[in-house]
Amino acid sequence: MAKTYQAAVFPAPNVPVEIREFPEPELEPGAVLLRTMYSEVCGTDVHLHHGKLSGVPYPIIPGHVSVGAVAKARGKITTVEGNPVKEGDVVTFLDVHETCYNCYYCLVANQPTRCPHRKVYGITYSANDGLLGGWSEAILMKPGVKMIHIPTGLAPETFIGGGCGLVTALHAVDMARLQLGESVGVMGAGPVGQSILALASLSGAGEIVAVDAVADRLAFARTMGATGTISLDLAKKERLSRVHELTRGRGFDAVIEASGSPAAVSEALDFVRDGGRVIVCGHYTDNGSVEIHPHWQINRKHVELRGCWGSRFEHFDRAVALAARFGATKPWSAMASPYDGLSQVRSALDAVEKRTAVKAVVHLA
Ligand SMILES: [Zn+2]
Ligand SMILES: [Zn+2]
Repeated sequence: MAKTYQAAVFPAPNVPVEIREFPEPELEPGAVLLRTMYSEVCGTDVHLHHGKLSGVPYPIIPGHVSVGAVAKARGKITTVEGNPVKEGDVVTFLDVHETCYNCYYCLVANQPTRCPHRKVYGITYSANDGLLGGWSEAILMKPGVKMIHIPTGLAPETFIGGGCGLVTALHAVDMARLQLGESVGVMGAGPVGQSILALASLSGAGEIVAVDAVADRLAFARTMGATGTISLDLAKKERLSRVHELTRGRGFDAVIEASGSPAAVSEALDFVRDGGRVIVCGHYTDNGSVEIHPHWQINRKHVELRGCWGSRFEHFDRAVALAARFGATKPWSAMASPYDGLSQVRSALDAVEKRTAVKAVVHLA
């Protein structure tokens, strides 16, 4: 009997998760089979469940950032640092694959996250193509997928606790170009927002303020590095007064939107000071539109407004290194609620959707 592996599948938008059986894939030269240890359930998965991203080839095996142990490797495979990847190694991998470095966006515009050839594990690969998502007992690493060893001293739970949110946060914080002592507002204290708060504090930002509706998330934000919080329970006008109180009347030097709420993008433009920076990274999926007043909110304020899409290998590599170095002081592992086994994926998804969990981590082996 050929060996098989179970995986959780989104058959189609708004159809419940199913557990399906997949045959063990044949490994082509340069490919690796991982036994999944941890995969995560994030807000993007909730949106994928509801069909809010175009071009997703359902059925899919969700799960974009994962940690696994190498079960089989075919041929000589090395990391970017030249270290061999061998059976038994515990690794994670950049979910983005097949960025071509050969097209206009890669080579001329220098924006490889907009490369039309890129594929993403757990999002743009179909389950009909095999074990290409993390909600599975095993994941096929196609040749060229960039793996990173989980360094000694970094608990896999810590890295996966940060997971995709940490990687996105790093990219967004880079784009915000925070300088020592600057003030930053973070719209949304979900998994991306919490990591932004942690990285802003590691970057030496001064006033670091989390904005969210959920009291528990605002309390947790303090443990990640927020120096202040603003609850969406306050009326809109009061929220702006609070920002002015915290920033000597000017507004934040930078605001990073990580909430996925269209209204938060408009409010970010209100909260930023004249000449400040606004980065939008919370709208990976289509959550609708919002009215913006170009004169008052952008042009007259001389605001820099930028979208942040996906991440590159450099963000992933530095995220692993940061989790290793600061995992003891920034509680990424405590941010994720643990779920045991594929049978609990539905409850994990439900908890993330209802916001009873900031994020969920599924433990597989
Ligand atoms: Zn390209
Ligand atoms: Zn994610």
